[in-house]
Amino acid sequence: MVGSGPNGLAAAARLARAGLEVTVLEASDSIGGGTRSSEMIVPGLLHDHCSAFHPIAAASPFLTTLDLGAHGLTWLHPAVDCVHPIDDGSAGVFYRSIDQTAHGLGRDGQRWRQLFEPLLKRFSDVLGDATQPVLRVPQHPVPLARFGAAALLPATTLARAWKTEQAKALWAGVAAHAFYRLDRPFTSAVGLMLLLSGHAEGWPVAKGGSQAIADALAADIRAHGGVIETNHRVKSSGELPPSDVLMLDVSPSAAADLLGSQLPARVARAYRSYKHGPGVFKVDFAVEEGVPWTAQAARLAGTVHLGGALAEIVANEDAVLRGAMPERPFVLIGQQYLADPSRSVGNVHPVWSYAHVPNGYMGDATAAIITQIERFAPGFRQRIIGTAVRSTTEMSLHNANYVGGDIIGGASSPFQLLFRPRFARDPYFTGIPGTYLCSASTPPGAGAHGMCGANAAARALTELGTPKSRHTSAPSENLA
Ligand SMILES: Cc1cc2nc3c(=O)[nH]c(=O)nc-3n(C[C@H](O)[C@H](O)[C@H](O)COP(=O)(O)OP(=O)(O)OC[C@H]3O[C@@H](n4cnc5c(N)ncnc54)[C@H](O)[C@@H]3O)c2cc1C
Repeated sequence: MVGSGPNGLAAAARLARAGLEVTVLEASDSIGGGTRSSEMIVPGLLHDHCSAFHPIAAASPFLTTLDLGAHGLTWLHPAVDCVHPIDDGSAGVFYRSIDQTAHGLGRDGQRWRQLFEPLLKRFSDVLGDATQPVLRVPQHPVPLARFGAAALLPATTLARAWKTEQAKALWAGVAAHAFYRLDRPFTSAVGLMLLLSGHAEGWPVAKGGSQAIADALAADIRAHGGVIETNHRVKSSGELPPSDVLMLDVSPSAAADLLGSQLPARVARAYRSYKHGPGVFKVDFAVEEGVPWTAQAARLAGTVHLGGALAEIVANEDAVLRGAMPERPFVLIGQQYLADPSRSVGNVHPVWSYAHVPNGYMGDATAAIITQIERFAPGFRQRIIGTAVRSTTEMSLHNANYVGGDIIGGASSPFQLLFRPRFARDPYFTGIPGTYLCSASTPPGAGAHGMCGANAAARALTELGTPKSRHTSAPSENLA
């Protein structure tokens, strides 16, 4: 296994549990890829480097089959899951409970309920199919079709379901997790899945930091005989000892570099022409007394989305995709400490943020992020006692998979949402026997849910003909 992100670790866990001798090689000095946490600014103050909120990980069809709780993973929930303030001081508020959300959305509440309630009743069926490659026969076609009918809509079209600015803005902020033009087909898919899983599981944080997800997976791997080596960057598959299976938790272009001339030409072309999405500019803050949000609900929220009304978010997401840095970029705020107070030191709290910026953006977005927070929380600036900043370049140095600062493993164009990393019945297979790509650039895409890795490992086990009795019991063994 090359790479120890959540997908690499999930794949390694699945292979180790099936009885294979597994070695994970990680370039960095610590494991976890996008699920790392550490102190950065003030001793004792704990920051998530990347992933923070885990609705899909908490529901993951694979991770939930491992007893990660026994290895220290505990999900903690903020009182409010997500708040989207707008300029008049009001906000769209998202709770795990559909009732609470619908109640808060007033005259849009009924429409919210009509959209999510039927899907929620079949949530595990929808998730089971939606976390598999597209070119397969779904196990639950009816609920998947219902989800798909809404998911294929442009987010701006689905937004017409709501009448209030608050509901429209709340929807736009969640849909913007797709990092794409929100007036394009399929841009409702990511937002719908985040909201649906949020209604099922909330948007929880991992107790003690997202690192706990990686650490629990690593403990499971070691418990099944696996070995993990850090500070080992793999530059070429030629430097690796022979193995039955080679799994790559890397970007498609990195896989093409690693595999070199062994890779069939058509696959190499597809990997090299794979498109990356916009980047992120990340700022972690140490903040005295927390953020003084005008909207009271935001003071209790794990996640706060800052981008104003629907039209503003649509325009700014369009701009970053075209390579233009907007004056007021879409900004995501994480207040994980509200669910997990152990991350704070006294009255100093870790506040996580990032802005959507053009891929490879070379400027400094710190001031733009602070200005966006000030817009909805006047007085924030005076409470900052320290910052830790990562530009798009630093993001990609921190983790080679974040090409140009793209944290979602590839642009969410309709084609790449459906067929990543290339159009193929088996998207994990590289074309070299025993060699698979398993990063977030494969289905079902970004997130710390481990499903890309679990699916790729299932595919490898099928190919190896490992006796079924040695497999884990999770679904999706049949991925041919
Ligand atoms: C700022 C930010 C916020 C995010 N927020 C969330 C969130 O709230 N919730 C959520 O679910 N997801 C979130 N994500 C996305 C999530 O972190 C990723 O989708 C997920 O980590 C992808 O997992 P992966 O295993 O595919 O790759 P990664 O986690 O990127 O891990 C890849 C690993 O492979 C290693 N590697 C790469 N090349 C080599 C090599 N040649 N040799 C050895 N090792 C190598 C890297 O060092 C890295 O450790 C966020 C990401 C970022 C950066």
